[in-house]
Amino acid sequence: MDNNATTPLAPEVFEAMKPYLVEDYGNASSIHWFGQRAKNAVDKARQQVAKLLNARPSEVIFTSGGTESDNAAIFGIVQASRVANPHLITTGIEHHAVLNTAQELEKRGASVTYVPVGSAGVIDPEEVRRSIRPETVLISIMHANNEIGAIQPLEEIGIIARERDIYFHTDAVQSVGKIPVDVEKLGVDLLSLSAHKLNGPKGVGAMYIRRGSILRPLLYGGHHERDRRPGTENVPGIVGLGMAAELAAAHLQEYGHGVAALRDRLEQGILEKVSAVSVNGDPARRLPNTCNLSFDCVEGEGFVIAMDLRGIACSTGAACSSGSVEPSHVLSAIGLTPAQARASIRLSLGRYSTAEDIDATLATLPAVVERLRAVSPRWGARG
Ligand code: PLP
Repeated sequence: MDNNATTPLAPEVFEAMKPYLVEDYGNASSIHWFGQRAKNAVDKARQQVAKLLNARPSEVIFTSGGTESDNAAIFGIVQASRVANPHLITTGIEHHAVLNTAQELEKRGASVTYVPVGSAGVIDPEEVRRSIRPETVLISIMHANNEIGAIQPLEEIGIIARERDIYFHTDAVQSVGKIPVDVEKLGVDLLSLSAHKLNGPKGVGAMYIRRGSILRPLLYGGHHERDRRPGTENVPGIVGLGMAAELAAAHLQEYGHGVAALRDRLEQGILEKVSAVSVNGDPARRLPNTCNLSFDCVEGEGFVIAMDLRGIACSTGAACSSGSVEPSHVLSAIGLTPAQARASIRLSLGRYSTAEDIDATLATLPAVVERLRAVSPRWGARG
């Protein structure tokens, strides 16, 4: 129940990777036969990823994951701009890979506008238009949110960015493999994705960079990846990402329908069996696998531990930092109070989720909520 955190490796992905961990261990930059076998495998993966995104293979660069792709896109565009005081537009509900990058840029003299979201967790494209300044060099807006699954109106924002000739980046780490992601339709110039969110291996990702985009690289070294990202290629990881992308493209529709039906059954079941619970975000505009709920008078951390003890992994809407539980910035941004945010749980399904998983969760969760409420003074005070 925690597939937005990470997903299991697909067996087909593991099989595809194996030879490159053992016998085909060549360096993709070597000119001999070993190297060329590795290079061919990397090229194939580039085509597989490009196809999933409707991009050209030459526009796909492999990285170490979503965090690196986000950093490389944002620092890359802002630092390559010739503007003295560059301005960036993003949102308050981005993943920390974007938020902390934006904050670092602020320390270095850039200015950043964090466009607000409504209670659905969706931004208004007109807010983006209004935030544009002469010195705006980049708009970076996530495709789907990792906590509540809210899907952003990227097509409309893409049109605005193009009209004003501003680079447009999206963190699509949570959407790739779950919903259609077409860089032409969305009108993005840069996109970040991560293999481990779509049944691929951890520590490998990719960046889509529209042909002609001018970025300063994050790292300096050899001439790998068209001088965009130096370092010996992680061939098994890249092969795994390629196969994960091919599987995602082949099963996208079936995944969407199947996982949404299971998620809806889970959510309905919880709403029927548990009182004083509300759904966070817009139920009609979210990823098919994600469900974020607030249970009155339940501490999310206690809930996660109690569920874990019963064999079910889920997560809270809160991030634990230096011993104190800060309410999630996403849930705060959509208007939840700190208490409501701390009472929130994220359940996220995946390709291998089954009806039995849903039944097991529905058999366990109501009793866990009841036990936690039984010891809650606030629940008691409600009478
Ligand atoms: N962006 C989003 C929306 C994410 O959900 C995540 C991972 O949780 C990341 C970026 C970071 O990706 P990675 O784990 O590959 O660094």
